[in-house]
Amino acid sequence: MAKIVHAQHGGVIPADLETLTTLPGVGRKNASVFLVEFHNMPAMPVDTHVARFAKRLGFSKGKNVVEIERDLCEILPRENWADYHLLMVLFGRYYCKATKPECATCKLKEDGLCSWTK
Ligand code: SF4
Repeated sequence: MAKIVHAQHGGVIPADLETLTTLPGVGRKNASVFLVEFHNMPAMPVDTHVARFAKRLGFSKGKNVVEIERDLCEILPRENWADYHLLMVLFGRYYCKATKPECATCKLKEDGLCSWTK
């Protein structure tokens, strides 16, 4: 990848999703994380935690990360994508876990916002 960045992009890692995902080893999620974290650009990286949380909350019925990303981008304000992404990653990783989520003490359930536990 480094050789391609050097030879084809003047040694500068591209700052657009389409070009980034042509680089070997760079998938859509990693490209989006790079845009959000390094360039502070609006993007919605969808990892396993974001995907699980989005489905449990009823934000998306997407069958893959591209569909989930599309759904999240439609309903969440663009200027806050980076913040929402990080919140969903952390909430999914430590609270709304894949196995044994903390539903018993979850405020979202208490407020009737989680479609997974209804
Ligand atoms: S109630 Fe459970 S499944 Fe729903 S958001 Fe909270 S932790 Fe996740």
